[in-house]
Amino acid sequence: MSADGAIPRVVGNWKMNGMIASLAEIGRIARGVADLPVAAGLALPATLLALAGRSGGALAIGGQDLHAEPCGPRTGGISAPMLRDAGAQFTLVGHSETRRPNGDDDDDRVAAKLAAARAAGLAVILCVGETAAHRADGRAAEVVTDQLRRALPRHIDGAWLAIAYEPRWAIGSGVTPTLDEIAAMHETIGAAAAPRVRPGGAPVKRLYGGSVTRDNARDIVSIAGVDGLLVGNASLTAERFLPIATALC
Ligand code: PEP
Repeated sequence: MSADGAIPRVVGNWKMNGMIASLAEIGRIARGVADLPVAAGLALPATLLALAGRSGGALAIGGQDLHAEPCGPRTGGISAPMLRDAGAQFTLVGHSETRRPNGDDDDDRVAAKLAAARAAGLAVILCVGETAAHRADGRAAEVVTDQLRRALPRHIDGAWLAIAYEPRWAIGSGVTPTLDEIAAMHETIGAAAAPRVRPGGAPVKRLYGGSVTRDNARDIVSIAGVDGLLVGNASLTAERFLPIATALC
């Protein structure tokens, strides 16, 4: 996948997991998705990117986060050009585990990261989502709309951007929103994103993420407006990830 190519519709987020020995598992996933009519990707730890990228094939390889600056005195930072150089085709931006718990300036940082990724030729999966408290207060749609308003540039295109709805309270918890709640939020996201699509641009794909498993994947992707899935824990092995990818076929 290039920035001008298709965004994967089923994406595994390996988070802080994976050693060199895990390349064998990545190979199993790559071989498994090669037979499926669905674009798949893995957002990998930076330490595995260059090695995993060499395996090539049908599996798109991506980063999980980046610094908005291209280079310089940012100890521990990884820039968009560095991700690209290591073989990444896409990157996650704004994953809740990379956002500050209550930082007001988060969406501005996210916007800067998104612009940097785009400038480096990376496709972007922008993650948004509310906290449990926001949802309990009836503010979920307002919070997500505001995240998008602040993070999205004026001229977006589904050729290089997807938006993942990831309620913070659903990530790693084993709890998912109801199908109606997912449908409603995907409609909200579509309404917020559509006016920013550049004239002639492709509509932005919407992914759902948060405690997706082989047991709920098919129900979730059958919801109107859900184009794909972002999968954390259940993406770490081919045995668990491939049935989820198959649910999209
Ligand atoms: C994620 O971290 O993006 C995610 C969706 O995690 P999990 O599937 O483990 O909830």
